[in-house]
Amino acid sequence: MQTAFTLQQLADPDIQEADSVLRRCVHCGFCLATCPTYLELGNELDSPRGRIYLIKDMLENDKRASEEVTTHIDRCLSCLSCMTTCPSGVDYMRLVDQARVRIEKTYRRPLLDRLFRALLSAILPYRRRFRMALRLAGLGRALVPVLNGFGLAGRRLEAMLALAPARLPARSTIKPGVSFTPEGEQRGRVALLNGCAQSVLDPGINLAALRLLSRFGVEVVFPKGEACCGAIVHHMGRADQARRLARANIDAWMEEIEGEGLDAIVTTTSGCGTTIKDYAHLFRDDPAYAEKAARVAALTADVSEYLALLKLPPSRRGAHVVVAYHAACSLQHGQRVTREPKALLMNAGFEVRDVPEGHICCGSAGTYNILQPDIAERLRDRKVGNIASVAPDVIAAGNIGCIAQIASGTHVPVLHTVELLDWAYGDDEADFLRRGGSPFGEGVS
Ligand code: SF4
Ligand code: SF4
Repeated sequence: MQTAFTLQQLADPDIQEADSVLRRCVHCGFCLATCPTYLELGNELDSPRGRIYLIKDMLENDKRASEEVTTHIDRCLSCLSCMTTCPSGVDYMRLVDQARVRIEKTYRRPLLDRLFRALLSAILPYRRRFRMALRLAGLGRALVPVLNGFGLAGRRLEAMLALAPARLPARSTIKPGVSFTPEGEQRGRVALLNGCAQSVLDPGINLAALRLLSRFGVEVVFPKGEACCGAIVHHMGRADQARRLARANIDAWMEEIEGEGLDAIVTTTSGCGTTIKDYAHLFRDDPAYAEKAARVAALTADVSEYLALLKLPPSRRGAHVVVAYHAACSLQHGQRVTREPKALLMNAGFEVRDVPEGHICCGSAGTYNILQPDIAERLRDRKVGNIASVAPDVIAAGNIGCIAQIASGTHVPVLHTVELLDWAYGDDEADFLRRGGSPFGEGVS
């Protein structure tokens, strides 16, 4: 694709980057076939190619973000399916990230939209506030029947309430600053990201990861000062807030790296993993953090990647349990981790079935299912239908957002991959049994 940036514009490193990404696009349109919003809405402007044209026009002509650009960029899930498909290697993520920042800086959204987004970015990344909000959500459920009459704002509130768990799990027992010595001979030392939303919505996931890692000889630390990775606000175009959150994590992890050392920074939420692996880019122009961010990014691994390195022994405990593996977009398209989770589950004896249209997003995508509830619901129903077609006993995923989104549309239990592995390799009842009995039915324990 030809571009028409002036030399003066190209002096800006962001524009230079956008220029080199745009030049790779050959307009072939292959990406349209795998873009969830194009498949659902059928509008070229809701496809990767259409959005690329909108972004190109905005950047080349140094325009403020228009209502049209904002509408179509807001509808993008940042699922990055288009990047996996693109034969020319177009780094769409860089373009859409820039577009979101420009929208945030130059477009004045309607008042309710502004308030809603401000509320989400002030609550979701902070554990205590999020927990408090979930408590209030329990009280707000009574309002659901009347919310439909209040347009998009009502639908957003309804979507938010629907995603809140009916029963708030007990507070995570993992305290910042603790470390857990492994059983037997030590094979490694990792920091496990406790993060924000997941540790409130389902602290059992990290407990399962902790048990599993300990069982196989890995010391696990939870450094003081670690918190939200910044992904939630980064996807809302709030670059400064994202960097502030990321800096706190980098400081916390660097203390461990330079202290007793870390073999890896392990994440159990693939959305966070994708963002942390991109910290080097986020801080590329920050002399105080560029090097530290690059070290942190290089050490970051999804829990499935790290477990694969440990070469776990085969187990038969998962035999006769059919698992539909849902590949989170952030894991398969963002981090390109595709083999490890399935290989680990199969090694533990589970019968793993691929889900048709596995490359298509479930509609979760950070805060997307709250901000774009109608498209998100369509994508969820599409995903749940595809999952049902493989008749699983249980659904496995590696991202809390997907787990909550899919669980809101099915009665089949949806668990994190590490919860299934913890059960397969554990002596005790798995933590997920607290959800009301074995998810695998009679005869499987
Ligand atoms: S597949 Fe790649 S090169 Fe083709 S239109 Fe899409 S982004 Fe451009
Ligand atoms: S990131 Fe996903 S929704 Fe956005 S353009 Fe690419 S494929 Fe479509």
